[in-house]
Amino acid sequence: MPKSIDIPKETDIIEVRKKVNKLLSDARNSAKPNKCILCGKSQTSFCNSHSVAHFPLKNIADHGKVLHAPVLVGIDIIDMQKGVNSSGTFHFICNECDGTFFQDYENEQNLKAVPTDKMLAEIVVKNILLQLSKRGQEKELYRELQKKFNAYANLEDLEEIKELDVRDYAEELQFHKGIADKNVTGGYQILYWSVLPYKVPIAMQSAIALSKDLEGNEVNNVFDKSESVRMQFMHLAILPLEEESVILAFYHKRDKLYRKLRHQLNSSSKQKVLQFLNYIIFAYTENYFISKTIQLNIESNEKLAQLAHENAGYPNIGF
Ligand SMILES: [Zn+2]
Repeated sequence: MPKSIDIPKETDIIEVRKKVNKLLSDARNSAKPNKCILCGKSQTSFCNSHSVAHFPLKNIADHGKVLHAPVLVGIDIIDMQKGVNSSGTFHFICNECDGTFFQDYENEQNLKAVPTDKMLAEIVVKNILLQLSKRGQEKELYRELQKKFNAYANLEDLEEIKELDVRDYAEELQFHKGIADKNVTGGYQILYWSVLPYKVPIAMQSAIALSKDLEGNEVNNVFDKSESVRMQFMHLAILPLEEESVILAFYHKRDKLYRKLRHQLNSSSKQKVLQFLNYIIFAYTENYFISKTIQLNIESNEKLAQLAHENAGYPNIGF
């Protein structure tokens, strides 16, 4: 399989990996907030929160191992314990909130029934927390890179864009947290919900700013970075249970850009909808975990590798 980056033979990979890890952990440390964003209480240490609930990962693990997104860019098997602790996790909320806030949706029985608004709100809050934490880390990473290598000519512009993202995510977080806290109903629109009678080999959940719908029409203009524009997200969750799998796609009704997509999905066959959702995972997200049982199929699929190198349908190599 072609790899996106050719590493010169003489490179000391271990040394490079060490440096990269140091850079990332410095960025993570300086990005740590001083209070829990959910309850507002000051904290000195934060929970190692999992962006995908633990039980779906356990359900697809083979000898405790799952594959994560880099398998498509190069081979990378991660130990479930180590991997799940170090990727797709965020340190943004306290242990108490982590253990209580997501209880309704992190429950196999609840997931087998039509999801409640509270469950949907919890999923959104978790997805947004991961985005917020990523943005915070990226900002610090840029600063570290700038300090060490003077890497950017226009760091201020980059930071400004990240600030706008953070502003939008923070608003999004409070909005959906409010729905969960007050048990508001009627706000969400389900695009697709199904409990498949078999276990799919992938677990993921993510906020997605879709750029193109099923027919290729624009949804969000992902290049419009003006202040007045708010990205509108849909949310996708693929959660394998012990014998079944929950497939769930939804948005909030205030995000009207998804209306057309809803009609498109409603008038498509189940197979077509599942294909589209499957495409979205690889084209738009990186927070997915794959069962080792399909490692060979995945690695030999050039189209998948190509998709994984893109972001929202545009090339994204090296970022
Ligand atoms: Zn808290």
